[in-house]
Amino acid sequence: MKVDRYFSAGLTGLKIMRENILKAAQALKNSRHTVVFTGAGISVESGISPFRGPDGLWSKYDPGLFHRGYFRENPETCWKLIKEIFFDFIGKAEPNAAHHAIADLEKNGCVHAVITQNIDNLHQEAGSAHVLEYHGAIRNLCCTACPERYPRQDISLAVLPPVCPACGGILKPDFVFFGDPIPEEVNRLSGQEAKDAEVMLVVGTTGQVMPASRIPYVAKEFGATVIEVNVAESDYTPRITDIFLRGKAGEILAPLARAVIEGE
Ligand code: NAD
Repeated sequence: MKVDRYFSAGLTGLKIMRENILKAAQALKNSRHTVVFTGAGISVESGISPFRGPDGLWSKYDPGLFHRGYFRENPETCWKLIKEIFFDFIGKAEPNAAHHAIADLEKNGCVHAVITQNIDNLHQEAGSAHVLEYHGAIRNLCCTACPERYPRQDISLAVLPPVCPACGGILKPDFVFFGDPIPEEVNRLSGQEAKDAEVMLVVGTTGQVMPASRIPYVAKEFGATVIEVNVAESDYTPRITDIFLRGKAGEILAPLARAVIEGE
């Protein structure tokens, strides 16, 4: 009896999920401008830990180590961690089914921009063309003393911290540290995309990192339907989410993209 009850609850859950995926697919088909907003959760199935939660990077590392002031004072210590976390580890990850689903939606004209908080380059590796990297990316290093920028692979990390070949200044990864401002251009373009969105698809983000977390609220304020994919409720869920798809990003976005593109 007990087993039956759970079994039927499971079936009901599956039916609701399927209905929600179809509802989300319909909203995506009807939308003339769809923007995807992603956070660390979309890359979990690629083997990259998020920051928060029991297996998050912050359970292993002190977030204070990634403050711009700490970097300025302790570039060598900070660089050892940066190399270990971001270049030795994240640099080897590959896009998963969720990144591919978003790229397929874009190729079929159903996604117009991706705004990502991630620095891992996996949207582009999956084939997404219009990606706004709100927090920068691991692809380049920039000089802290002059305007030079270098592709990561052109600079040796054998001796840390790496220095600028042009002026000898200390190089920093070209992503946003705590305390760094958001690059003006990406901030402006992301705000515009949020305002233009008829649908905003929010994937794998807690909504707790300011100012990036404001983007879905702006979209909602300007009339967008908010579809959210996450394994757990986020700060957005009770406030602005219209359709909540609970589950792993890859497991939800792959059937969602098929339903939109192939009309399944
Ligand atoms: P977060 O670490 O605060 O939260 C991750 C979110 O993903 C949570 O809501 C969690 O429930 C959800 N999640 C976990 N596994 C998931 C899965 N398989 N499918 C769908 N959702 C899943 O991440 P955040 O809110 O994006 O913000 C943290 C900051 O961390 C961002 O600024 C981002 O730049 C940075 N970050 C980036 C990377 C990366 O580049 N891959 C990795 C870690 C952190």
